[in-house]
Amino acid sequence: MWETVIGLEIHTQLATKSKIFSGASTAYGAEPNTQACAVDLGLPGVLPVLNQQAVLMAVKFGLAIDAEVAPISVFARKNYFYPDLPKGYQISQFELPIVGKGTLTIELEDGSSKVVGVTRAHLEEDAGKSLHEDFHGMTGVDLNRAGTPLLEIVSEPDMRSAKEAVAYMRKMHSLVRYLGISDGNMQEGSFRCDANVSVRPKGQEEFGTRTELKNINSFRFVERAIDFEVERQIDLIEGGGKVTQETRLYDPNKHETRSMRSKEEAMDYRYFPDPDLLPVEVTAETKENIRRTLPELPDAKKARFMESFALNAEDAGILTTSRDMADYFEQVIKATDDIKLSANWIMGDLSGFLNKEGKEINESPVTAEMLAGMINRIKDNTISGKIAKEVFEAMWNGEGDADAIIKSKGLKQITDTGAIEAIVDEIIAANPGQVEQLKAGKDKLMGFFVGQVMKQTQGKANPGQVNQLLKQKLEL
Ligand code: ADP
Ligand code: MG
Repeated sequence: MWETVIGLEIHTQLATKSKIFSGASTAYGAEPNTQACAVDLGLPGVLPVLNQQAVLMAVKFGLAIDAEVAPISVFARKNYFYPDLPKGYQISQFELPIVGKGTLTIELEDGSSKVVGVTRAHLEEDAGKSLHEDFHGMTGVDLNRAGTPLLEIVSEPDMRSAKEAVAYMRKMHSLVRYLGISDGNMQEGSFRCDANVSVRPKGQEEFGTRTELKNINSFRFVERAIDFEVERQIDLIEGGGKVTQETRLYDPNKHETRSMRSKEEAMDYRYFPDPDLLPVEVTAETKENIRRTLPELPDAKKARFMESFALNAEDAGILTTSRDMADYFEQVIKATDDIKLSANWIMGDLSGFLNKEGKEINESPVTAEMLAGMINRIKDNTISGKIAKEVFEAMWNGEGDADAIIKSKGLKQITDTGAIEAIVDEIIAANPGQVEQLKAGKDKLMGFFVGQVMKQTQGKANPGQVNQLLKQKLEL
């Protein structure tokens, strides 16, 4: 009945050491107002000086999404008053952004993919931060963030569901991190988005009136905010009302969006070219030099993983989400030949431990070499997959590599057939009732017998071998 239309504006902080127009540090987490210099504060008589690194990063991004990189782009002043904007204007780009039309391919849940248009990406400075807590009815202002370089990436209204919007945001997040142009840290606000949402009757060509949901800084909240807003708009229209074009704020605690300002109250920013800054020129040579520094990008890496390692699209997609994870995987399979097992351990136990402790894969206490070493012990039947979980946890806790742990904890699998046979005989003798039922066709009891043997051996028997022995002995 209704179709959702979504366009995203993503703000990503660029990973430069200093700000876009000053030499002040961009490092996160300093004492308030210790990293804002005269330029960031907009004191009289100072002049902005463009940070070349920010420009090169924007160019890199443009090339990565196959966009036109403008040979000449222009900084403009976007005028408005707000306490966290001391100059009274934000330096941004308006008519001539540095990056023009490009594309980003996203993968959908049904396994198909979709090309989303990127309208433009422009450079601008971040504002400071207003702090509403801890000031008892007053607001504090921290200007450390003022002047941090931002790349604002504007999409076409091409997404048709909250899930597609999340897929787009995730893919963009992965891309800027691959390119090394942003740390993408969402808790610290390095990567956040505004979601423009409208609905229209299915089949109607014309777009409905949109609302803009401001400043969302998590994948989960984007999905929830959009879902809530779509419901709200549909209810409103079906109840005979009309959606008004306005800016709304998503409140994750109450799970609702509420109005911030309507279109009538929308500001006229009176954009004009900033007279303090020269137009930015990007030569063909600069572009070619940067093109040569582009890493293998997520899509290409995923395709290669599928082709070279016979991984399915889903696994290849997960393993190439970040460059670090892909590198880790490639290191593991250099030292062990079981690709599928390596993939499963990385996507399973390792990712689980990383998530639980909020660690990145490059901070993993279990190195790629250690994981490969453990996988090799599974392969040569020294340990079972189950015991491996114990070994993995011990490696994670810094107890050494797999061989050392297997030795110190006595986890080596019993492969001596004679020893296992004795235990199997013992268990068969102790459970005549179950033996009878199993023989009568109650196959589920096989699990019981294997379990008993594993218990006796503290999990150190080889499950395959136990199965085989049981079948042999019981003439199944
Ligand atoms: P503004 O300058 O007011 O932010 P833009 O035209 O630049 O407006 O659009 C901003 C974002 O809104 C873009 O990502 C665009 O794709 C999206 N958008 C525009 N119209 C609609 C619509 N009717 N429904 C959903 N998204 C829309
Ligand atoms: Mg906007």
